[in-house]
Amino acid sequence: MAVHSGPHFLQIPGPTNVPDRVLRAMAMPTIDHRGPEFTELGFAVLKACQSVFRTTQPVIIYPSSGTGAWEAAITNALSPGDRVVMAETGQFALQWRKLAERHKLDVDFLEGDWRHGASAANIGERLARDRQHRIKAVMVVHNETSTGCVSDIPAIRRAIDDAGHPALLMVDTISGLGAMPYEHDAWGIDVTVAGSQKGLMLPPGLGFNAVSEKALAASKINASTRSYWDWHEIVAANKLGSWPYTPATNLLYALKEAIAMLHEEGLDNVFARHRRHGAATRAALSRWGLENVCVDPAEYSPALTAVLLPQGLDADRFREIVLQRFDMSLGTGLGKLKGRAFRIGHLGHFNDLMLMGTLAGVEMGLGLAGVPHQRGGVDAAMNVLTGD
Ligand SMILES: *Cc1c(COP(=O)(O)O)cnc(C)c1O
Repeated sequence: MAVHSGPHFLQIPGPTNVPDRVLRAMAMPTIDHRGPEFTELGFAVLKACQSVFRTTQPVIIYPSSGTGAWEAAITNALSPGDRVVMAETGQFALQWRKLAERHKLDVDFLEGDWRHGASAANIGERLARDRQHRIKAVMVVHNETSTGCVSDIPAIRRAIDDAGHPALLMVDTISGLGAMPYEHDAWGIDVTVAGSQKGLMLPPGLGFNAVSEKALAASKINASTRSYWDWHEIVAANKLGSWPYTPATNLLYALKEAIAMLHEEGLDNVFARHRRHGAATRAALSRWGLENVCVDPAEYSPALTAVLLPQGLDADRFREIVLQRFDMSLGTGLGKLKGRAFRIGHLGHFNDLMLMGTLAGVEMGLGLAGVPHQRGGVDAAMNVLTGD
């Protein structure tokens, strides 16, 4: 049995640390989800969600993981046989493609090297060539959690518009929402897919779809089989502050509290905090002489940093040592980065001293694991935090 003295450091890029306030908000008796008290909670969380997704459109909340919200987006907006363009940003893009293909979508998968975000130019070029408008959707991951690269979603929107193409734009911001700017309406997104356990600081268990008018219209005429995930039934019930089936009542209490916390700090301040922590982490990385998986500074993620170890070293062995010695969980390398990279989550409920503890744990772990590096990464990060 693991023994903890003091808090465990959960520095994986999701699930993230849940604030005590949010845990306390959940520790409430479960109420009648068809009673008047629930209706008040229902309206409050639906409105609060719109303020975070930055939309006046419906935000649909599922009792699901993020993967469920992916499936909801596909089965509502698209039909079997539909052609879609997806970009290979990393492991999560691969997983979304797998799910899309199981739903019989015809996926044009734009290859990537897992070190960059999605290329707006390549997407634009695909759409420009599609004169018959056979492509029904462009599907991209905003913050690729396996690599720490952010895709420029407004640039992708412009590429679709410049091509004069009617394809829907569907974006997975499961690990981006609450950690970096995201604008469902202003960026012209048709379906936003999100989850509870990353930037939103909640435990796992809620999935989200924010949906444009155009996406709602597309879903009315699409042939996919769906029932549990059906947007229209949920939107209709939500108008009355309820759900067609039992919602995750206690997670909704948590959601309300977490969004209140985001607004108390101010969304812009929350995003600035994430940017600072990303910059401090990268300063440590470059002092250590280790390589960032993401190679384009314009695409560096404020939510996490994926770190490559020199060839021949096992990143999972390093993570094991850090867990055993310092009770800190770092993210494993995913897919083809398994064993080659580890990930530092610096998103969600997090502050300067938690970051310092995290980076000190990494630096001590590098020494213990025999990873060649230059010491002083923690110092370099402190200089960023104090503005020297
Ligand atoms: C975590 C994550 C997912 C998967 O979410 P689950 O809640 O594990 O189903 C999908 N996409 C991205 C970008 C993620 O970070």
